[in-house]
Amino acid sequence: MISVRDALTTILETVSPLAGERVGLLHAAGRVLAEEIRSERDVPPFANSAMDGYAVRCDDLYGATPDQPIGLTLVEVVQAGRVPTQAVTPGTASKIMTGAIIPPGADTVVRIEDTEEENGRVWIKRQERAGTHIRMSGEDIRRGQVVLEKGRRLRPADIGLLASVGRSFVLVHQRPRVAILSTGNELAEIDETLRPGQIVNSNAYSLAAAVREAGGEPVVLEIARDTLEEIRAALAEAARHDVILSTGGVSVGEFDFVKAAMDELGIRRLFWRVAQRPGKPLTFGLLRERPYFGLPGNPVSALVCFYLYVRPALYRMAGHRKPFLPVVHARVGADIPKAKDLTEFVRCRLIWKDDHYEALSTGNQSSGVLSSLSMGDGLLIGPAELPLLPQGLIVKVLVLDNEHFASERPPC
Ligand code: AMP
Ligand code: MG
Repeated sequence: MISVRDALTTILETVSPLAGERVGLLHAAGRVLAEEIRSERDVPPFANSAMDGYAVRCDDLYGATPDQPIGLTLVEVVQAGRVPTQAVTPGTASKIMTGAIIPPGADTVVRIEDTEEENGRVWIKRQERAGTHIRMSGEDIRRGQVVLEKGRRLRPADIGLLASVGRSFVLVHQRPRVAILSTGNELAEIDETLRPGQIVNSNAYSLAAAVREAGGEPVVLEIARDTLEEIRAALAEAARHDVILSTGGVSVGEFDFVKAAMDELGIRRLFWRVAQRPGKPLTFGLLRERPYFGLPGNPVSALVCFYLYVRPALYRMAGHRKPFLPVVHARVGADIPKAKDLTEFVRCRLIWKDDHYEALSTGNQSSGVLSSLSMGDGLLIGPAELPLLPQGLIVKVLVLDNEHFASERPPC
């Protein structure tokens, strides 16, 4: 049996980022760049007006006030997207729209609100410093500049940057394809009528959802019955995918054949059993160089092991630099009993109390009770050495869903 930390270290040392693939920019959000992006152009590509107003020569504005406006002769109206045909010479101005090219000779833009136009002349009521309301070419991005680093998880603003430098395709890490194999004689498909002793194969659904949420592509395989032959054949089939998950059959029961099947297939087992609750029977190995996770069958154990171990592996494979779930510190709201010598992941609610989070157990922590995971905001980490988590203790809580930080109320 190994510690949670050692299990995580083993997994992250074993997996590495998948190769890159080129994707269209519309499909690149949330993916991780597998290349460095340099700009081949200046953005913006030309000096342009930040306001609707008048392009002028700063020297012409000296002393302009609302009481003593300065009159300039209008030579042209420059729309966005058009090229100016007239230079702005001393004593003249061009009317200009936001985003339009600054005409030659002009060095300043005066906002429309600070002017009055009359009979082909514009009256400027305000002295401005040279360069006011002008967006210089390359002020956002310079040609040759690194726009986005390799390893960057692309967000909408990044996608906009990539578009503005003209990259319609980018190289991102492939998303892991994850085979999900459920084992168990008691399992029935979701739409079958349950016979005595049968339960629905819910793990396939929760894990497929978790894989998707983690940016992977789930491939749900047929249920394998508890025979060595069937499990071995199913695992061999599963090994065509980037990652293999199985649930059930890893404990010490008479029909737990997963470990024997691993041995027969030559899966290099890197660990079996982690000093934790839930999920103690977790096993991890390499099947034809693909990471293989033998998850316990209990629905909570399977999903908690996914969050703790599989998710970081999938994140690493997809190129992410930060593979682990976010953590908040919280104060235990009421005593929580726990198993001594095991790291316990307690399903909890997180409640914000003016200046700190309070963590409260969601109740029945049996590894078969999925509703208490469904109710939880996070997994409270109960350190192995403690026999009890007393009220007031500061603990770490893994936050399972960023929506936890969302609000029903407007922010201002
Ligand atoms: P096992 O790890 O195979 O001993 O299974 C432990 C418990 O989890 C048993 O009560 C199983 O019925 C249950 N279980 C196993 N596989 C699944 C599954 N795919 N979906 C829901 N429950 C399962
Ligand atoms: Mg079983």
